[in-house]
Amino acid sequence: MTYAVKECFLTLQGEGVQSGSRAVFLRFAGCNLWSGREQDRATADCRFCDTDFVGTNGEGGGKFGSAEELAGRVANLWGNGEQQRLVVITGGEPMLQLDDALVDALHARGFRVAVETNGTLPAVGGVDWICVSPKGGTDVVQRKGNELKLVWPQEGIDPVELETWSFDHFLVQPMDCAEREAAVDAAIRLAMERPKWRLSLQAHKVVGLA
Ligand code: SF4
Repeated sequence: MTYAVKECFLTLQGEGVQSGSRAVFLRFAGCNLWSGREQDRATADCRFCDTDFVGTNGEGGGKFGSAEELAGRVANLWGNGEQQRLVVITGGEPMLQLDDALVDALHARGFRVAVETNGTLPAVGGVDWICVSPKGGTDVVQRKGNELKLVWPQEGIDPVELETWSFDHFLVQPMDCAEREAAVDAAIRLAMERPKWRLSLQAHKVVGLA
């Protein structure tokens, strides 16, 4: 298996329950809900993406010929120290590429494996932390995990229905868009009206981390 990685670097997790944790970020190239090309955005299944996941030309990106090679890169980025090793695997859509071999190779190097997925593909077994961020109008099959992160507001999604899914944490995150203030208001309103939801902000953008 060859893995196409957009970027891979050491940082602090900026979102969600694990916000503030030291982590290696591994961003796979490619997504099943958008090509990543601006000319396709208007007709894509997901239209509000703020991430460049096209190609392998980002910091630490490239093609990796085996799980061992990629896990070795992740471990090198972490450096010395065995405590709290965390890798956050994202995209694009990570479930297009993440497989048992890579999860095993990361575990063998002492990492907890977290994924951030749109939930339209089932999560591979052995993942330690599953964060699903559902997109309106898509068929989400991964309806259980650790963290449900709802980017809000979105058409085609009913938060009341999402509350029936099996997650430990329900987070609402204002959409990063031109109508940012209105999105923040909407997210606050949801958390106030339905306390199962907690407001989540993108801390890495506040402090200027990648
Ligand atoms: S599912 Fe995620 S990575 Fe894919 S286009 Fe939407 S926001 Fe971007």
